[in-house]
Amino acid sequence: MSSYQAPLKDMRFVLNELAGLAEVAKLPGYEDATPDTVDAILEEAGKFATEVLDPLNAPGDREGSVFKDGAVATPKGFKEAYRKYVEGGWGALPFGPEWGGQGLPKLVATAVEEMLTSSNMSFSLCPLLTQGAIHALELCGTDALKQTFLPKMTTGTWTGTMNLTEPQAGSDLALVKTRAVRAGDHYRISGQKIFITYGEHDLSENILHLVLARTPDAPEGVKGISLFLVPKYLVNADGSLGARNTARCASIEHKLGIHASPTAVMVYEDAVGYLVGEENKGLAYMFIMMNAARFSVGLEGVAIAERAFQRAVAYAKERLQGRDLVEASGTVPIIRHPDVRRMLMLMKSQTEAMRALAYTTAAAMDFAHKTKARAHQAFVDLMIPVVKGWCTETGIDIASLGVQIHGGMGFIEETGAAQHLRDARITTIYEGTTGIQASDLVGRKIAREGGATARQWLASVKQLDADLSRSKSADVQAIRAALATGVQAVSDGVDFIVANSGKDVRGVFAGAVPFLKLMGIVAGGWQMARAALAAEMKMGSGDKAFLEAKIKTARFYADQVLVQAPALRDTVVKGSAAVMAVPEENFLTA
Ligand SMILES: Cc1cc2nc3c(=O)[nH]c(=O)nc-3n(C[C@H](O)[C@H](O)[C@H](O)COP(=O)(O)OP(=O)(O)OC[C@H]3O[C@@H](n4cnc5c(N)ncnc54)[C@H](O)[C@@H]3O)c2cc1C
Repeated sequence: MSSYQAPLKDMRFVLNELAGLAEVAKLPGYEDATPDTVDAILEEAGKFATEVLDPLNAPGDREGSVFKDGAVATPKGFKEAYRKYVEGGWGALPFGPEWGGQGLPKLVATAVEEMLTSSNMSFSLCPLLTQGAIHALELCGTDALKQTFLPKMTTGTWTGTMNLTEPQAGSDLALVKTRAVRAGDHYRISGQKIFITYGEHDLSENILHLVLARTPDAPEGVKGISLFLVPKYLVNADGSLGARNTARCASIEHKLGIHASPTAVMVYEDAVGYLVGEENKGLAYMFIMMNAARFSVGLEGVAIAERAFQRAVAYAKERLQGRDLVEASGTVPIIRHPDVRRMLMLMKSQTEAMRALAYTTAAAMDFAHKTKARAHQAFVDLMIPVVKGWCTETGIDIASLGVQIHGGMGFIEETGAAQHLRDARITTIYEGTTGIQASDLVGRKIAREGGATARQWLASVKQLDADLSRSKSADVQAIRAALATGVQAVSDGVDFIVANSGKDVRGVFAGAVPFLKLMGIVAGGWQMARAALAAEMKMGSGDKAFLEAKIKTARFYADQVLVQAPALRDTVVKGSAAVMAVPEENFLTA
């Protein structure tokens, strides 16, 4: 049985050579992110993930969180692990020192988050939601709310949740019905929320719910939604815990994966809530949380892919079946068979491409945060749906390949490969399904601005061509050609979206998910091309075996993944004719 080992070599390579950690560390406030400090953090986080979280992953899946009499007990060992997480200061990494945070770049926190998620996705969801809630409060809360809640949330002593979904309001938050009625300096919240991750649990002494609700005179639709902070326990003026609020967990869901993460039905009965920001602007604030959370869910795709890959490699080296196709041999480990190698390379190359794209986006978040430069934020806004949609869809494919490499043992729970696939399956659904991410990408991020940011990004990718052209390596030249074809495919897709969104919106949206996949594959190819160049440059001085593997992995990605770009472009530009052709009443043939 394989145990999780943080892929520190690749993480360091991506941080330093692709995401520009040295430049990020020059931003004001990030001076502490020196190479030594970052190295120490990565080493320690890797140990925490391997020694504390990974051993709880499979037992946590089997045991699950349990609901009884309004309370939720997390699986054995989770409380102790969470205590260690808080003591280790892991939650405080990216937040402002004024609230007790360590003020480190998002980029560094991203590598740590990947490790926590790889080793135990169910556990990692509690910090994920808490961090989203901190962001929203930091940016939109009053000073009083910040003083009362942020210090304890930053350390992780109190946790946060995100309460959007209601039975009739999933992707469509315009349908939210939960009510908020003003009562002096606070509001009274009533309604039911479903699917609330860590809505109730035993890891922390208080839970702060960020709840979308409507005031009585609010306009219809998304323009009438406000955001409220509803604590499980009210907080006294001296910061101590006060009365139990009337926010309670009615039950938790039985589900396909992430069994240890409680998914709660929450009932609010005249619960005390505090307005965050202004009335009717809740959805905009929620987007702050959602963007952070969407990025993190995209990272879950990377993390699960890495974990599934590590398990598959270990199994492929152990499992003896068949003979070598060329050399005279006895029974060989299955890793010697070309088809198994192909599957492992698909896992490895796509995981590395996704990691590079996610970390590069995290670095852009740091630049956007510190410099307020529009170009960085525009890049982040463009890439968030891609990181979320592409990394999670690919993460599922990779976890599925992991099962395939295990053969029948992959389908049996014993090896752990199946858990990764079950856990990964939610990632394309929550925080906005892939369909919703793709609509955001083609509608808000491309069509609405006439494709400006996408074209700027494509221009910057094209600039890499000059550097690639100077390489004497046949691998790099093959990567260069595949990237140029991929860039053209995205460019054609952007032109189609911009030209048709006004006159054939169905046609544009019919191809939205294929376009998102195209963007992801080409953005991943861009990163792998940069990786190959960086590896070539460092060859004389660095870890030769790692760098050679990086170039070969980038070549594989170009030959087997990037090569899909033209077909995806063709799907996008065909529009909606075939997609919408069969009438609804003809779908079923019974
Ligand atoms: C385990 C788990 C944890 C969760 N955690 C949280 C949480 O912490 N907080 C929270 O608020 N919610 C949470 N959710 C809810 C989650 O965010 C929603 O399930 C998700 O947003 C999808 O909504 P829905 O389930 O109602 O699906 P629906 O919105 O009914 O979607 C069904 C299908 O229709 C498609 N669709 C819907 N509308 C459109 C459209 N306009 N264009 C194109 N396609 C569309 C979707 O892509 C999907 O394929 C969680 C859900 C689960 C299962």
